[in-house]
Amino acid sequence: MTVQLGIPALPTGDRAGGDLASGLVPPPRPDNTPAGLWDRYGRRATDMRLSLTDKCNLRCTYCMPAEGLEWLSKQAVMTKDEIVRIVRLGVEALGVRELRLTGGEPLVRADLPDIIAAIRDNHPELPISMTTNGVGLDKKAARLKAAGLTRINVSLDSLHEETFTKLTRRPFLDRVLAGVDAAWAAGLGPVKLNAVLMRGINDTESPDLLEWALGRGYELRFIEQMPLDADHGWTRRTMITAAEIRTLLSRDFVLSPDSRARDGAPAERFDVRRRDAASGEATGPVLGTVGIIASVTEPFCSDCRRTRITAEGKIMSCLFSREEFDLLGLLRAGATDAELVARWQDAMWAKPKAHGMDHTGLGAPDFVQPDRSMSAIGG
Ligand code: SAM
Ligand code: SF4
Repeated sequence: MTVQLGIPALPTGDRAGGDLASGLVPPPRPDNTPAGLWDRYGRRATDMRLSLTDKCNLRCTYCMPAEGLEWLSKQAVMTKDEIVRIVRLGVEALGVRELRLTGGEPLVRADLPDIIAAIRDNHPELPISMTTNGVGLDKKAARLKAAGLTRINVSLDSLHEETFTKLTRRPFLDRVLAGVDAAWAAGLGPVKLNAVLMRGINDTESPDLLEWALGRGYELRFIEQMPLDADHGWTRRTMITAAEIRTLLSRDFVLSPDSRARDGAPAERFDVRRRDAASGEATGPVLGTVGIIASVTEPFCSDCRRTRITAEGKIMSCLFSREEFDLLGLLRAGATDAELVARWQDAMWAKPKAHGMDHTGLGAPDFVQPDRSMSAIGG
């Protein structure tokens, strides 16, 4: 059985839907808005997340249903040349300063090294990172580095074979671990690891995961589970909050806020020192840092700098946008650069003020889980 992708039934390319906070349709962008990807709340998007595919070879329970999703057709997905043009417009005309490639699973795209190399040719200084589940990375890391990839994030929720398999519904832990090490060896550092904690499955493993990451010089980031699972199984009541994550880690470690400016980064970073079992105090040197991305309970919407392009070339101003603007359709219809730039600016102008996720289940009516799963948006 396949599950419908569930693309929101909104007219593509036109304004539709509303502001998540107000429920109102956003006003059109005035003619005199400055260059760049500005929204109505004074935020400027400079961080581009671009999905290369909706397909994936894992089935993480917090993201995909066991059966997978109904994948986009090859024709529907952006080609290499289309991606390269969209990135060029983002960087040259709209002030994008960093690019993150994601999916779905970006490694399943056979032309991934060519895409990276072509973007790199146009933008020698652009930081290009990639979020991947790491399956197959051991064989590709060196090639991706040579193509021009700057850095990598690998998702790793457990170091226990059984737990990993339960969470991802695939027995690939060894392959992921080999991928992480290969990324580091290829010079794709600093290697960051993303972990989503699920109650009763991998939550108590969090200090061990951190110990493992610190020992290898990887930066671990815990991500609060968001209501972006295709199964719609998320509940605010059962999710593991950032506060709980800090408590879980405090068994073995003392965390102190990192003094560096957050600068629009989603993760709150902490310096980590070991906790002395007898005194309960911090002991020894700083071992490294840990990040916590508290998108639900401590949202950072007011400082959000992200603009997202889905694999089929839709602009999403927020993971939780209820409206999408079709950039690829316009591009394929022969639009000029100026027309594409204007549509992108329109899309970002309509960015909601905030996602309202933390209101779910608390009686507030202003949050509706999007139909798209994380894999169909590009996390
Ligand atoms: N397949 C790649 C991977 O897993 O790294 C890239 C795409 S995945 C959608 C990007 C990130 O989103 C991963 O780190 C994953 O753990 C995270 N993610 C997926 N579903 C999520 C959810 N419901 N809540 C929080 N994070 C989620
Ligand atoms: Fe695939 Fe990444 Fe979603 Fe897991 S989180 S199912 S690896 S897209």
